[in-house]
Amino acid sequence: MAAGRFAPSPSGDLHVGNLRTALLAWLCARQSGRDFVMRVEDLDRVRPGAEERQLADLAALGIDWDGPVVRQSERARYYDAALASLGGRGLLFECFCTRREILEAPSAPHAPPGAYPGTCRDLSDDERERRRAERPAALRLRAEASSFTVDDALHGTYEGAVDDVVLRRGDGVVAYNLAVVVDDAQQGVDQVVRGDDLLSSAPRQAYLATLLGAVPPTYVHVPLALNTVGQRLAKRDGAVTARDLGPATFGIVAASLGLQGETAANLLDGFSVDRIPREPWVFEPPATSSPEQPRTS
Ligand code: GLU
Repeated sequence: MAAGRFAPSPSGDLHVGNLRTALLAWLCARQSGRDFVMRVEDLDRVRPGAEERQLADLAALGIDWDGPVVRQSERARYYDAALASLGGRGLLFECFCTRREILEAPSAPHAPPGAYPGTCRDLSDDERERRRAERPAALRLRAEASSFTVDDALHGTYEGAVDDVVLRRGDGVVAYNLAVVVDDAQQGVDQVVRGDDLLSSAPRQAYLATLLGAVPPTYVHVPLALNTVGQRLAKRDGAVTARDLGPATFGIVAASLGLQGETAANLLDGFSVDRIPREPWVFEPPATSSPEQPRTS
């Protein structure tokens, strides 16, 4: 099965930029005859009621999906199996570093800023034993590559850094970078359409996919929505959600893609991946009757 997907984190209402990305993911999948799956990324930052509202807003745009909604919180067995497989091949190590220790450690030559300096990679058994008593370990990938290349329909061949990424946090929560790879592989996702803020994560995710025996997906990293001063669009920018904008939402999102139609299905005719706008979409919320307080900083 070939499939595309949308994978929202249920941390609040989706804004028009998120809805636009979702519509693009749906258009890319449906236009290429793929299934489309919906995956709620609820391992972290869950706001009660947000999932229901997000799914309702997506459905209201005419986005439909195949099969049941998948929730990451119900998939621990798949993540545990992936960790066991990697661990069994010596591809994991325990890391006891705090964020601060990582920032303060001297970094390896040519390593990108903030990259893990390798502190816990080769601890002795004694040292590991001693550190275990201090704090619970995170599990990191023992990466055997420093870069990896992916194919992106908008960005072409994209090479990026691979590092010893955290796969399970010290508090036991499975990290996004593991969950996303396991789920995409297991759900048959071979086309990943998402915001281009995640482009730089694609090489490490694709590399991890190969370690887990999966073929990396093809990617379509789409431009984000910005506010009128060029920052990433956010809730504080005013009337930006489907709840704020009402029935006008669909037309606003479609027009931002240069498309016209009454329903999502109508848009399929005029759509092709090549015609996805390459520049960020600047969204100016309509004035509301009770404008938000201007920000003071
Ligand atoms: N759950 C992530 C987000 O909402 C998306 C991850 C992905 O598409 O790979 O930002």
